[in-house]
Amino acid sequence: MTPKFKIGDEVFKARYDKVETFVTCPDCGGTRYVRVLLHDDTEIRVECGCCNRGGYQPSTGQIKQYQYTTFASPYTVTGISTRSDNISYELNNFGSGMYWTGDESELFPTIVEAMEAGEKKKAAHEAEENKRLMAKTKDAKSWAWNAAYHRNCIKKAEQDIEYHRSKVQIFASKAKEKAA
Ligand SMILES: [Zn+2]
Repeated sequence: MTPKFKIGDEVFKARYDKVETFVTCPDCGGTRYVRVLLHDDTEIRVECGCCNRGGYQPSTGQIKQYQYTTFASPYTVTGISTRSDNISYELNNFGSGMYWTGDESELFPTIVEAMEAGEKKKAAHEAEENKRLMAKTKDAKSWAWNAAYHRNCIKKAEQDIEYHRSKVQIFASKAKEKAA
């Protein structure tokens, strides 16, 4: 392999920075709730599982995504290292101890070519990461489980209320007896 660049050449290398963004949840459309139809045709409204981050946090109606911006910066080749399978370059090593490195495949003679390659790499990475974030959702089964759980809690709470109310009524009538 013959190196594409020589010491002293100006080369361009692209990199990307990510910025956190939010998109509307595709399941609840940002309303934070979805309707679930149970086996007995009972329709209930439950917190959306897709945009729920778990724990006691409520659903947000939004899903985190990342947006990447590509940059390309110029460097000067200050060293070349050739191996059988790869050529890498030392960049901007002017003796201050701070320098960069780059493989031949990621260095370009013009900013346009560097940006083009960077954009391609960025698009693939962005798509992959956002697909992963979008897939990090709960399935319908867990919503139904949540719904059943909350319905049971409501039933239990209603029974408790009934019990406590009956106690209060007893005390109330006793108090009335005393007062009478
Ligand atoms: Zn949602």
